[in-house]
Amino acid sequence: MAIATQEQQVVEGVEKRLLIGGEWRDAAGGATFPVIDPATEEPVCEVADATPEDAKAALDAAVAVQAEWGASAPNDRAKILWDAFELMMERADELALLMTLEMGKAVAESKSEIVYAADFFRWHSGDALRLDGVYKQFGNGTSRVLTMKQPVGPCLMITPWNFPMAMGTRKVGPAVAAGCTVVMKPAGATPLCMLALGQILEEAGLPAGVFNIITTSSSGKVTGPLIEDPRLRKLSFTGSTEVGRKLIEAAAGSVLKTSMELGGNAPFLVFEDADLDEAVEGALLAKMRNIGEACTSANRFHVAESVKDEFTRRLAEKMGALKSGRGTEEDVKVGPLIDQESREKVAELVEDAVSKGAKPLTGGELPGGRGYFYPPTVLADVPLDARVFSEEIFGPVAPIAAFSSEDEAIERANDTEYGLVAYVFTRDAKRAIRVCERLETGMVGLNQGMVSNAGAPFGGVKQSGIGREGGNEGIEEFLETKYVAMNMD
Ligand code: NAP
Repeated sequence: MAIATQEQQVVEGVEKRLLIGGEWRDAAGGATFPVIDPATEEPVCEVADATPEDAKAALDAAVAVQAEWGASAPNDRAKILWDAFELMMERADELALLMTLEMGKAVAESKSEIVYAADFFRWHSGDALRLDGVYKQFGNGTSRVLTMKQPVGPCLMITPWNFPMAMGTRKVGPAVAAGCTVVMKPAGATPLCMLALGQILEEAGLPAGVFNIITTSSSGKVTGPLIEDPRLRKLSFTGSTEVGRKLIEAAAGSVLKTSMELGGNAPFLVFEDADLDEAVEGALLAKMRNIGEACTSANRFHVAESVKDEFTRRLAEKMGALKSGRGTEEDVKVGPLIDQESREKVAELVEDAVSKGAKPLTGGELPGGRGYFYPPTVLADVPLDARVFSEEIFGPVAPIAAFSSEDEAIERANDTEYGLVAYVFTRDAKRAIRVCERLETGMVGLNQGMVSNAGAPFGGVKQSGIGREGGNEGIEEFLETKYVAMNMD
C-alpha cells in the first residue's frame, strides 16, 4: 500500500500539460493520450496530446525570446543550469520512480540515469562561461580575423523513450549554455520525465519561452511543419536510424543544421589474452544496462575460440541469475521491454537464430502473465547469418560466436552500417591500440562495458549519426562561428 501511495504522489506531482511560453496549457481541442506502465500494461496517467497548432505556438514562443536569451549573461545561464543540476539531485528518488513507472527499468537503474542526466547540466554550466573566439592576423599581415561564437537559434529536440531524462538533458544542457531556445518533443511512450524537467528548469529560473514542451501521440504530423518552418535553426534528434534518415531528408528542404544520435549494433570483442573476470563483468554491463534497450548495448559477442566456452558459460550463469520483475520491486534487475512490438521483435530474432543452429544456454522462452517481459538470454554458437548479428536487438539477448584471428574479429566488428560503439577486452596494450584504431565506431569501451559520461564526446560514425553530445564537443552543436574580417590599413 505504501508503495502505491508513493507512486501516486509522484505521478500527481508532475505536470501533464504542454509547456508553451512559460504557461502550462491543455492541447488545442483538449485531447490527451495515456502513458502505459510496461510492467503492468496499465495506464499511469494521461498527458496532453499536442496538435500541429500547439507545436507552432511552441515555436512562436521559442522564437519570441531567442534574441533576448541569446544576449543573456553567461553567469545567469550557468547558474540556472547549476541550480537545475542540484534540484535534480535533490529529487533523484522521486524522478527515478517516475521514470520506472513510464519506462520500466529497475528503480536503482533509473536513479543512475537521473544522476547521469543531471551531470550534463553540471558539465555544461561551465561551458556557458567559456564561449570564446579568436583574434589573429591575416596571412598577408594587413587585416585581422575575429571570430565570435553565437547561439544557433531556436532548436527542435526529439528524444527517445529508452533514456527518457538523459537524452533530454544531453541536448538541453548545451543549448541553454549556448543561449538557444528549445521546443522539446519527448517520445510518446515516456513523456513524464521531460515534463518533470520542465518544472525543474522553471524552478531554477529559466525564463518563460526558453524551454517549451510538446507531448504528442502523432510525432510526425506535429513536428513535420516545425522542421519546414524557416524560423527553426536546428534539429537535434536521438532515436532510430530509420526515423533519423527521414528527418535528415525533411531537414534538407531548409538546409537545417542537424545533430543525429542514431542506432547502434555494438560488437563486443574478447581476445584470448583478456582478463575473463573483467570481460564477463563488462559484458553484463554492456548487455544488461537498460534491459539491453540502449543504443550502446553490446549486440554481437565475438570471442576468441580458445576462451569462448568459458566466457559463454560464465556469462550465461550471471545473466540467468538476474531477477526479472516490475522495476519498483526489491532486488529486481531486469524490467520489462517498452511494448509488445519490441518484445515480439526480440522473440523473433531469437527464434531466427535458434532455427539456424544457435543454442540458448539461458532464457529464450517468452514468459506468460502481464507486462512486456523477456528473460535474459544467452545464445551460443550463433551462425553469422543470423539476423541477431545484423539488426539492433534492443533487448536482453547476448548472441555469441567464435573468431580465430585479430583480423577476423575486426572485420566482423566493422561489417555493419552502424558505427556507434565497440567494446574490446585484451590485456595486450599494443593490440588494444591497434584494434581501437581500426574499429569504425565513434566510441570504444576498452576493458570496460560502459562509455557514457557527461565529460566525454558521445556519438557515432557511419549510419549511427552526425555530431557529438557531451564532452568539449557537445556545446559546438549549438553554436555558429561568425567571422569578421577587419581592415587595418
Ligand atoms: P524512434 O522510433 O526513432 O523514436 C525516437 C523519437 O522520434 C521519439 O520521440 C519518436 O516519437 C519520434 N519519432 C518517431 N517517428 C517520427 C517522425 N516521423 N517524425 C518525428 N519524430 C518521430 O526511436 P525509439 O524507439 O524511441 O528509440 C530507440 C532507438 O533510439 C534505437 O535505435 C536506439 O539505438 C536509438 N538511440 C540512440 C542513441 C544515441 O545516442 N545514438 C541514444 C538512445 C537511443 P514517438 O515514439 O512518440 O513516435
